[in-house]
Amino acid sequence: MKFNRLGPSRRIDENVVFVLSFIRMKHQPISGARAKLAASLPSTTEILRGSLLHRHIRHRSGCTVCADGGGHPVWVLTVTYPGGRTKQISLSSQQKPMVQRWLRNYRKLKDTLERICELNQQLLREERNA
Ligand SMILES: [Zn+2]
Repeated sequence: MKFNRLGPSRRIDENVVFVLSFIRMKHQPISGARAKLAASLPSTTEILRGSLLHRHIRHRSGCTVCADGGGHPVWVLTVTYPGGRTKQISLSSQQKPMVQRWLRNYRKLKDTLERICELNQQLLREERNA
């Protein structure tokens, strides 16, 4: 039997290292994409789920504005819960831009987490088939 200079066990180790590094290389695009997504996550505290609605409040009596048919414009945050129950929170006009930003953060956070989960599914398949 003829062995090379390094001997048979070393050769197996080298093959294992080669296969492992090959797997790592294969995973790198997914891991890189995953890290990039994670780094792009928005604030995890300044978030709100729901939607912003523009409504008009009308007083039944004693208000000249409403008597003229105008009403008072208000912004309302509407949050829907499982079972169809909804919660409504009226907002001051100063709160509106902040609420819009927090709603955007929540949507981006959720979308990004979903994309990371999809990448992890791909990683699971690749690892199993490696
Ligand atoms: Zn009024």
